[in-house]
Amino acid sequence: MSITETSPAIADVATLPVIGHWIGGAAVTSATGRTAPVFNPATGSVQAEVALADDAEIAAAIASANAGYRVWSGYSIAKRQAVLFAFRELLNARKGELAAIITAEHGKVLSDAMGEILRGLEVVELATGFPHLIKGAFSQNASTGVDVYSIKQPLGVTAIISPFNFPAMVPMWFFPIAIAAGNAVILKPSEKDPSAALWLAGLWAEAGLPAGVFTVLQGDKQAVDGLLTSPEVQSVSFVGSTPIAQYIYETASRHGKRVQALGGAKNHMLVLPDADLDLAADMAINAGYGAAGERCMAISVVLAVEPVADELIEKVKERIAKLRIGNGAGVDGVEPDMGPLISGAHRDKVASYVDIAEQDGAEIVVDGRGLTVAGHEGGFFFGPTLLDRVPTTSRAYTEEIFGPVLSIVRVASFQEGVDLINSGQFGNGTAIFTNDGGAARRFQNEIEVGMIGINVPIPVPVAYHSFGGWKQSLFGDAKAYGVHGFDFFTREKAVTSRWLDPATHGGINLGFPQN
Ligand code: NAD
Repeated sequence: MSITETSPAIADVATLPVIGHWIGGAAVTSATGRTAPVFNPATGSVQAEVALADDAEIAAAIASANAGYRVWSGYSIAKRQAVLFAFRELLNARKGELAAIITAEHGKVLSDAMGEILRGLEVVELATGFPHLIKGAFSQNASTGVDVYSIKQPLGVTAIISPFNFPAMVPMWFFPIAIAAGNAVILKPSEKDPSAALWLAGLWAEAGLPAGVFTVLQGDKQAVDGLLTSPEVQSVSFVGSTPIAQYIYETASRHGKRVQALGGAKNHMLVLPDADLDLAADMAINAGYGAAGERCMAISVVLAVEPVADELIEKVKERIAKLRIGNGAGVDGVEPDMGPLISGAHRDKVASYVDIAEQDGAEIVVDGRGLTVAGHEGGFFFGPTLLDRVPTTSRAYTEEIFGPVLSIVRVASFQEGVDLINSGQFGNGTAIFTNDGGAARRFQNEIEVGMIGINVPIPVPVAYHSFGGWKQSLFGDAKAYGVHGFDFFTREKAVTSRWLDPATHGGINLGFPQN
């Protein structure tokens, strides 16, 4: 079909709602005419278009954020705290609305959408205690009559660029802390599920945040590049795939910004022969297939230390057979275990990795390719897939698949498992399943990964610790939230102060100041 023909898809686009920006404290429609489709992954249909900002809209967003920053950074701590508490209360009361928005655009099941909101809410709650975390330090009489103190000040306009897989939680890893510390935030959400960000913007306005302090700029590479290169933007917090994380880190650093850029992952779960295999099988299912494997902390490889592989595979297989796959919003009030993938293109990419594994000699134990869901035939579904004896040279092993594909790799020893994990390009999360405390302790000390679970499959740290991987999973040295978050979103001044009095000022002395 030629592009000039009036296909039903093209006719539909004219009548679709266009999701716009949030600039200057209000929803703003876009005038660019450039848009991208937003799908309902459970049906495969286009439900809306999202605006893609041009340079004029990017400039308007930045100007408004700058104006918002000037107002907000002048608010007293008590007034800022009141807004944060109001936001926390509103979010807690209305989180069901946000979960429905996430499921409609992302596809994950409603309870999982609620789970991501609750993990984001944790960071909001941490941020409400910001006065204690940004209060600096004071040393009285560091030298005779001299006091030294540090002040933590906001950066100014900060940018957040977020991925599709956690449209609420990932922005909430950053913005509660950035805003609490007195900054203005421009959030550029994923164009695949842009509505959660707008909903959060509306909530901030209700909570009393001044206009311009929280901005949503919808867009693609053009919007991102506009933020990375603007001299007005002081910092960039990015989460997404590794090649883009590296690009963001390099480009924003070159433009003099603070950058934290979190990338992709390939998380391994090491199962030792003494582990409880029923527990390990349950955890492999939860961490491998939850959110259809579209989690940066998903387990995608199980390293089975022999002789456990055969028994473990049987247990995982039994559990897969019981999983229900369908519309994440539920049908007749019944929620499935797993929803669809984000897009048809991504489903095909996931399938291509299973093809690669097969060609490279892996055994397909459970095959999710070609799954259709009755009543949702156009949906982007992909069944839970289990691969055995995946060669560690296969791209299906070395690269991130980001789908419901669990690979079993059989290893002969604890050490072979550790060496394999440490040889990978990523270092986001990992887990060990064992009843041997000594082995767990060795694992935690020797493994080159940022977040470790001991009999915990998805070790996402709580809000008062910090989230971040090693190697190709994090560019820059600041992790998300926790103390790292407050350090990232503030810059420190050290003041050395003396109130001159003739008795102690010391007269003329050209030497370097000493205590
Ligand atoms: P992505 O890298 O495609 O997109 C992330 C963001 O970057 C989006 O806002 C997108 O619009 C923008 N972007 C995409 N291409 C760009 C380009 N060429 N130039 C500038 N900006 C660009 O990632 P995704 O598919 O949305 O998310 C999935 C990825 O995110 C996975 O790799 C996953 O592991 C990773 N992720 C990592 C973490 C973590 O904490 N390490 C958390 C969640 C997701």
